[in-house]
Amino acid sequence: MLLRADYNVPLDESGAITSDFRIKQSVPTVKALIEKGCKVVICSHLGRPKDSEDKTCSLKPVAKRLSELLGQEVQFVDNCVGDIVSAATSDMQAGQVILLENLRYYKEEEQNNEDFARVLVQDSHAEYFVQDGFGVVHRAHASTDAVTHYAPAVSGLLLQREVDTITTVMDNPERPLMAIIGGAKIADKIDIIHKFLDLADVIVIGGAMANTFLLAQGIEVGDSLVDKDDLSIAKEIIEKSKVIATERKFTFYLPQDGVVANKLDKTAVTRIVDWDAHVIADIQAYPKMPAASASKVAPDEKILDIGPFSGAFMAGAMQLCATVVWNGTMGVTETQSLQGPVGPFAHGSELIIDGLLGSHGHKPFSVLGGGDTTAYIEERGLTENFNHVSTGGGASLELMAGKTLPGVASLLDKA
Ligand code: ADP
Ligand code: MG
Repeated sequence: MLLRADYNVPLDESGAITSDFRIKQSVPTVKALIEKGCKVVICSHLGRPKDSEDKTCSLKPVAKRLSELLGQEVQFVDNCVGDIVSAATSDMQAGQVILLENLRYYKEEEQNNEDFARVLVQDSHAEYFVQDGFGVVHRAHASTDAVTHYAPAVSGLLLQREVDTITTVMDNPERPLMAIIGGAKIADKIDIIHKFLDLADVIVIGGAMANTFLLAQGIEVGDSLVDKDDLSIAKEIIEKSKVIATERKFTFYLPQDGVVANKLDKTAVTRIVDWDAHVIADIQAYPKMPAASASKVAPDEKILDIGPFSGAFMAGAMQLCATVVWNGTMGVTETQSLQGPVGPFAHGSELIIDGLLGSHGHKPFSVLGGGDTTAYIEERGLTENFNHVSTGGGASLELMAGKTLPGVASLLDKA
């Protein structure tokens, strides 16, 4: 049995695994195969190795962690094809687990090379192929596409759960449905924004992407990250959302306040700018009138997170929703804090997390996707607290947008 997993885990400079979320998520499939008496040969990629000498991308640390999680030995083989693979897999016992070295040490993997795929199956002595690497099925690679030409190919349990959960939410969600879309670029998420314009009851925008929408509405965003090229797309979306709101009950919400600083640094002095809310600035200045600067981002300032009013609005809106899909952080969550676990530009994302986890009473069904969003949730140790945290960044976006995933289309049980 050849199993494709997605063990593309984050490593620190010393080569230690900083989050084992993806390994943990694959355990039910590996255990199910062991219990069925299969000889389990696992292949995966990790990172983007420069060449086969680049040992910073070795899967060896994953074998150790997987072995701890399974409670049994996982033999690591220092190649994914060739004589050493063939020798190691030729006399396996039922229930034995082998992990092969990084597929991407061979450029043929990303080239979807037929010979490479054939040899992969042949050298692992596999009679069946199980696809469980959800994070890679949006790519047609040798281990997602060509491999299925050389062994009967079916889905693993994780892939099945990812596809079922995401397609159910997109095809037949429990309503009201709210989409929280943040992150860096409109261009990356334009397809899902359009999808949610058709589908969702509430859309809220945060992250750097919100800056472009704000600028499109004539709000001064200073030195914030904006996509000048996407201004017209942002305007179009705003206009479309206004039309939709006249046709059905629908809310499209852009942040009314933000956390700004004049540099992206953990030591930066921050302040809240209240360009549209006129609540926070009033409270801060009470009983005086707020200064004009309280509602204006200065030319040298950057918006680095949504503000507390916007976060509160979003958390409030989700109290009325049955399902919430969240993709893209509300601010620069990577900036570490000088003290404590929450960085200076992560408070907006924390307000979303609190709301999703039921701090205000209601706990909506939550589906999270996006590489940076899940990385933050992993860092906070909260992956178990949501209904579904996707292991696939690009794959979850493409699936949500309704695109066909080559690594799923190639399976016998794709339906
Ligand atoms: P995901 O990987 O979850 O889909 P993206 O890759 O689209 O999310 O965006 C996440 C990135 O957006 C993070 O690197 C974060 O630092 C950045 N980001 C979020 N808000 C801002 C902001 N206001 N200014 C600059 N960068 C931001
Ligand atoms: Mg990302």
